[in-house]
Amino acid sequence: MIDLLKELDNVLDHIKSFDKILIFSDFDGTLVSIKRNPENVRLSKKGISILNKILKNKKIITGIVSGRKISELQSFLGNDISENVNLFGCHGSEIRFKGSVTKIAREAEKAKENIIPIINFIMDKYNKIRGVVFEQKENSFAVNYRNIRDSDIEKINEMKIDFLKMTNRYSARLLNLKKVLEVVPDDVDKSLAIKATMNEYGKILKSCNHLKLCIGDDITDENLFIENNEGINVKIAPDKTSSTRAGFFLNNISEYYVFLKKISAIT
Ligand SMILES: [Mg+2]
Repeated sequence: MIDLLKELDNVLDHIKSFDKILIFSDFDGTLVSIKRNPENVRLSKKGISILNKILKNKKIITGIVSGRKISELQSFLGNDISENVNLFGCHGSEIRFKGSVTKIAREAEKAKENIIPIINFIMDKYNKIRGVVFEQKENSFAVNYRNIRDSDIEKINEMKIDFLKMTNRYSARLLNLKKVLEVVPDDVDKSLAIKATMNEYGKILKSCNHLKLCIGDDITDENLFIENNEGINVKIAPDKTSSTRAGFFLNNISEYYVFLKKISAIT
């Protein structure tokens, strides 16, 4: 993997050679730092200002792709930004192009049924653990166990095993995230954001050369990188033990802001 800031000038020259740049950026751990309580994340003043600059650049089409719901993203981003950016929530199954209403990705609509038996089983069996929060999203189901008692960790391990048994049976997969277990239908992942964007902007993109730029910090972003195998993929703060499809890395969010600021000035 290449340290992006060390090659910044070359990368920017490459980016400048395209007529249109499509950015697909993750949110948590990428645009905002991760907080113990996910409700406490804040986009910094610096982040707001850089995102606004990016959104004003006519050469760039920007999308934020997250496991969160679009309604949550909107409240963290504020009106100015969320009105002018494309938003992809619930791992790409919720889609809201700017100036338009929120839709559910076709693939997600179909896959929804697969996870209903899993949701029912888990909620039924584990609803007594204190501190566990179940969250039913449009097309996924998350169990947040950040606030459980230490003595209940065995029950979470048991839940993990139940999840894995059921995701094998139904067509779904388990995401083992930071203090969150989330089950997502197999056909739903962040690559839906890229597919939907190519569809939405098909006419514009057909007549010009374009480059896709994907940036993210965790395992769910690998689906962006796989879908974007011809473009530029950037992993934030890679830990040396997990493998990634990204060709570049940045050490932290501040470095990402440096990169974004440079891109916002592209003409
Ligand atoms: Mg992330």
